[in-house]
Amino acid sequence: MLITCPDCLSKTRVATSKIISAETRELYCQCLNLNCGKVFVSHISFSHAIEPTGKRPDPLLQPELCKNKEQMDIFDEQ
Ligand SMILES: [Zn+2]
Repeated sequence: MLITCPDCLSKTRVATSKIISAETRELYCQCLNLNCGKVFVSHISFSHAIEPTGKRPDPLLQPELCKNKEQMDIFDEQ
């Protein structure tokens, strides 16, 4: 999971985390840009469930899956 720094948009490291509730976790993050070094707290939480449709993957949501034609052909074999 990639959390970006709110100041410089660089990658961060999740130093530790703790459970807030069954649907929310608090992350303690550290910016990996040495010239920034911001330390901050972020939250991740459950949003909603997704029901499987059996359709092809959405190229906007899963571009890596859609790059390989052979992988996409698996969806046509059903
Ligand atoms: Zn930063």
